[in-house]
Amino acid sequence: MNHAAAPELRAALGRYARLLQAQGVTHVPLDRRAREVLRHLAAEEGKTAAPVPAQAPVPGHAAPPKPATISISTPTPASPMPRPAPAAASAASLSSAQTVRGESVSAEGTKAERLARLAAKAAVCRKCEHLASFRTNVVFGEGNPEAALMFVGEAPGADEDEQGRPFIGRAGQTLTKMIQAMGLTREEVYIGNILKCRPDMPKGASGNRKPTPEEMKTCMPYIVSQIEIIQPKALVALGATAVEALLDAKLPISRLRGKFVDFRGIPLMPTFHPSYLLHNPTNETKRKVWDDLLLVMEQLNLPISEKQRGYFL
Ligand code: SF4
Repeated sequence: MNHAAAPELRAALGRYARLLQAQGVTHVPLDRRAREVLRHLAAEEGKTAAPVPAQAPVPGHAAPPKPATISISTPTPASPMPRPAPAAASAASLSSAQTVRGESVSAEGTKAERLARLAAKAAVCRKCEHLASFRTNVVFGEGNPEAALMFVGEAPGADEDEQGRPFIGRAGQTLTKMIQAMGLTREEVYIGNILKCRPDMPKGASGNRKPTPEEMKTCMPYIVSQIEIIQPKALVALGATAVEALLDAKLPISRLRGKFVDFRGIPLMPTFHPSYLLHNPTNETKRKVWDDLLLVMEQLNLPISEKQRGYFL
């Protein structure tokens, strides 16, 4: 190898590693020649030429190897995905949001089979006794187990509790329109919530309440497992509560939206909850959400027509 070329090669490898990292790739296979080159570069830096394993972690990922599911050809944001600043400690901190372990379920079988086992577990879950006593149905989530795109909201409302399905009330109808505007159907994506049971309400009260940090923390292992099983290529977090739970970020959604952040190697786009659109049905608000979804479409390499680019302008 040309010694003078080593710094240039190191810089190129660094850029390539950052590109892979932005795509969620955690490990890359190395053939014999690649291992020789890396050994040489390490020796150039004066390090001991330690044996290079056949699979190398992408810098920034210390997690154990997992299959790289994102195509190298998928377009990525120009810069590495930032992680939002951690929130100030709250009474029941969600500080483990990025590291909380998924609900344990056998890894045997297809994604659909694994999700079905997880759903069966959630169906009889009583970790939050007050919610289990109040609920009509556990709202596990629904959609394509092989989905490239997954939406995550905060919790079921009255309609969802009644029917056991996520996002089927008025806000759900808005979400369905958002999905259709992307050229997709509900059946092609996966839709879930942080909380699987409807937050309980005082007797006779209508409406919904925000889940408490403690409730979200208790239920988080289910959504983490769903994400781990499905391995979508992109996530959309709907509303500040879902973002708070997934990213431990108590920043206004208006500051977080519009750029991808990393959730365990998966690009995550924070955006407004569909119910916010119902309360603020201006073209300006709709366009902000649509801008976020256009970025998601680009991330997924979905076709975008000129008409779609011009929605709400
Ligand atoms: S909210 Fe989640 S953790 Fe709590 S009882 Fe329901 S399924 Fe179980």
